[in-house]
Amino acid sequence: MFNFDEVPLPKLGLTGLDGVLSEEELAIQDVTHRFAEEVMRPIGEKLDKMDPQDVVAEGSPLWDYIAKMDESGLLDLEAIGGMSDAEKSRIIPIIFEELAWGDCGLALTSMVLKFPAFAAYNTGKPELIERFGKLRGCWVATQPDRGSEVVDMDFTEGHPDTKQHRGNLHARIDGEELVITGQSAAWVSATPIAECALLYCQCDYGDGLYKEDGSHNYVAALVPFDLPGVSKGKPLDKMGMRALCQGEVFFDEVRIPLSYIVAGQNEAFPSFFGALTFGNMEMGISFTGVARAAYEHALAYVHERKQGGTELINHQTVRARLFKMQQKVEACRALALRAFAYNYGPNGPHLLASATSKTFVTDTCVEVTSEAIQLLGGNGLTKEYPVEKLFRDARTAQIADGENNVLGLKSATWLSKEYKNRVGL
Ligand SMILES: Cc1cc2nc3c(=O)[nH]c(=O)nc-3n(C[C@H](O)[C@H](O)[C@H](O)COP(=O)(O)OP(=O)(O)OC[C@H]3O[C@@H](n4cnc5c(N)ncnc54)[C@H](O)[C@@H]3O)c2cc1C
Repeated sequence: MFNFDEVPLPKLGLTGLDGVLSEEELAIQDVTHRFAEEVMRPIGEKLDKMDPQDVVAEGSPLWDYIAKMDESGLLDLEAIGGMSDAEKSRIIPIIFEELAWGDCGLALTSMVLKFPAFAAYNTGKPELIERFGKLRGCWVATQPDRGSEVVDMDFTEGHPDTKQHRGNLHARIDGEELVITGQSAAWVSATPIAECALLYCQCDYGDGLYKEDGSHNYVAALVPFDLPGVSKGKPLDKMGMRALCQGEVFFDEVRIPLSYIVAGQNEAFPSFFGALTFGNMEMGISFTGVARAAYEHALAYVHERKQGGTELINHQTVRARLFKMQQKVEACRALALRAFAYNYGPNGPHLLASATSKTFVTDTCVEVTSEAIQLLGGNGLTKEYPVEKLFRDARTAQIADGENNVLGLKSATWLSKEYKNRVGL
């Protein structure tokens, strides 16, 4: 039983039904929120309306954002790396919910720019940390003919008697060098502004591209973009997350030392699995932030707009719809935080946890942002109001970092395999 002397108003935290947050966590949340509101929202809105070429051009507000994010120290790799797992599971989601509440395209830009540096630090090798630790990076994994197949690493979702597509990007060992030829998909995030890549692709170690079971030999390597043979395509024009620039990168017999390989023949798939597990986990909390932003806009609007003789909020059906939105935002956060707790806990990490969160949150975020448009009526459809952008951003996230249905298929396959293993089938 809980005891009350009178029925109080609910006391809500910045994100809603906040439980216990330490003073440090509250301070981080506050600083990140102010950065998101004062720096990210205005820049994100501008970039959303710009031509993709202009987004990455000299003088674009994107560069201002990158400089301010660096100055803020909010995503300092050494500081994050120095946290305990328990701290990471609580602090990383606080930061990313606020950043994506500000602008999810910019939040993902900041994450992906650090992927190669993160991989370099993970190796602990001073040579790689020195070479890649400060470079802006991207994550090259998908190719024109290999989209979901990249996510389906072990090809559990392929048709019987078929094998992974040969793809468009290949590496081979040549003496003391790795030689890379081909191209990435146009979907690689931050390519137009990247100085290097964490690159995953099929690799011939001397015995061909395929293993006996039809899966690929694979490699993960850090590749600087200032080498002969590297070129880039035009920035991609897409419906949502327009602040996140994307584009192809082409490799023409690009040679890197073998020491730039961060995961070889037997480690490359697990390494990709680890990157995707982190990416999906982060998408779950980020799009909780996007859903929350849409809910907050709708909440404010229905207290101002009058129809039917009164403010919209006074209509019972409107209140019911708002409550459903708030409930969905809370459900998103609960699941996103559960994935963080699992991944940094004794049983994790696993992509199953991250994909459970990413797919639910991004699907739910589409529902919440769509309902926000509906509550704003015609205004919701115009670029004068922020919710149509949030809807486009949410819709894009259902395909980014693995298309949701394919992530669902992979997850179901793991659930079945785990069950069979547990009961001895
Ligand atoms: C915003 C954004 C950011 C991205 N960032 C990056 C990045 O940084 N680096 C990178 O490498 N890539 C990136 N991607 C690419 C992304 O990972 C792919 O778009 C995604 O994996 C889907 O691949 P695809 O677009 O080729 O679709 P396809 O694989 O062609 O899928 C098309 C449809 O077919 C269905 N389908 C496919 N395979 C199966 C199957 N086996 N069984 C049943 N249905 C199936 C899917 O469900 C989907 O609906 C990004 C994409 C977006 C949208």
